[in-house]
Amino acid sequence: MIKLGLLGVGHLGKIHLKCLLAIEQIELTGIFDSNTKVAQSVAQTYNVRLFNSYEELLDCSEAVDIVTPTSTHFKLAKQAIRQGKHVFIEKPLTDTVETALALIDLQKKYPVKIQVGHVERFNPAFQAIQDIRLHPLFIEAHRLAIFNPRGTDVSVVLDLMIHDLDLVLNMVQSPLQSLSASGVAVVSKQLDIANVRLEFQNGCVANLTASRISMKQMRKIRLFQKDAYLSLDLLEKKTEVVQLWNEDDPNKPSVSMTLDTEEGKKYIGIQAPKVKEINAIQMELSTFANSILNDTIPVVTIEEGYNCLALAHQIIEEIERRSKGFAV
Ligand code: NAD
Repeated sequence: MIKLGLLGVGHLGKIHLKCLLAIEQIELTGIFDSNTKVAQSVAQTYNVRLFNSYEELLDCSEAVDIVTPTSTHFKLAKQAIRQGKHVFIEKPLTDTVETALALIDLQKKYPVKIQVGHVERFNPAFQAIQDIRLHPLFIEAHRLAIFNPRGTDVSVVLDLMIHDLDLVLNMVQSPLQSLSASGVAVVSKQLDIANVRLEFQNGCVANLTASRISMKQMRKIRLFQKDAYLSLDLLEKKTEVVQLWNEDDPNKPSVSMTLDTEEGKKYIGIQAPKVKEINAIQMELSTFANSILNDTIPVVTIEEGYNCLALAHQIIEEIERRSKGFAV
């Protein structure tokens, strides 16, 4: 069992709290939130211990779950790591590339486990393609949300697109060659809609669009590779794989369409891999606990959190550079 304290019980923190209470590898020591009124009410509702300070929470815990605003992540994580406490930290890792690097340096001195909350890795639709060999050459991602003032303190790239950046970096596994991006701050002072085209050294191109000013919600990723097309609906938790099979392949699905090619008969099979019912947040938190208990590498490492954040900032800088050139 890992003794873990929860920091921040706002919108997402309350969801984490429910999940933490259901994980058998975790013993929740208690909660702390700088908003005393909110903290008291949550502690009462869930019958959990309320700490009077972060220091008190740290003293009683082996690990912390940081679910506070991004601007506070660095300070809070630094304090925990320096005391040798394992850290689960919500995405984005920090608000600046420099502070993210400083945390990586700190982890070298204090070898604790750190996992970043890129929860889409645990989305059932993404989990359903884990057994398929991926070598995408073209990726198209759309993440659209209806406007909500919560989260508008950061650009849509850090708020929404970062989820797809993490998935793309995880699937492509090749250095970035170039990017071009554009975006607009339509409603808030930060970018509300953004698009990026990423070109990787292995030839893969990823085209990502994120918007928080849409009329409907959508979270879709489509992957195209030499022998297959994969469609992931991360919102509806559905996955579809359209794959090319050889005539003599014993695994070819029964429902398939015949295709005459120069290499002989091929079969196009459409399959819907089984999507398990997973509570993604509960799963990410229990894998974090397991990484501590079994001394294994966390599923989403601090380096991956850093790479994703650095790419997000590169995209924002490119959009700023571009918009200066076309100032109206
Ligand atoms: P929120 O504003 O609803 O809640 C944040 C809570 O932290 C508040 O209750 C606030 O009082 C508390 N807080 C602020 N500073 C504190 C401090 N120094 N010590 C203790 N408590 C403090 O925010 P939220 O929507 O829950 O977001 C929290 C974090 O989770 C952000 O980093 C956000 O980017 C991330 N997030 C991730 C996802 C995801 O899909 N993984 C979704 C939403 C939010």
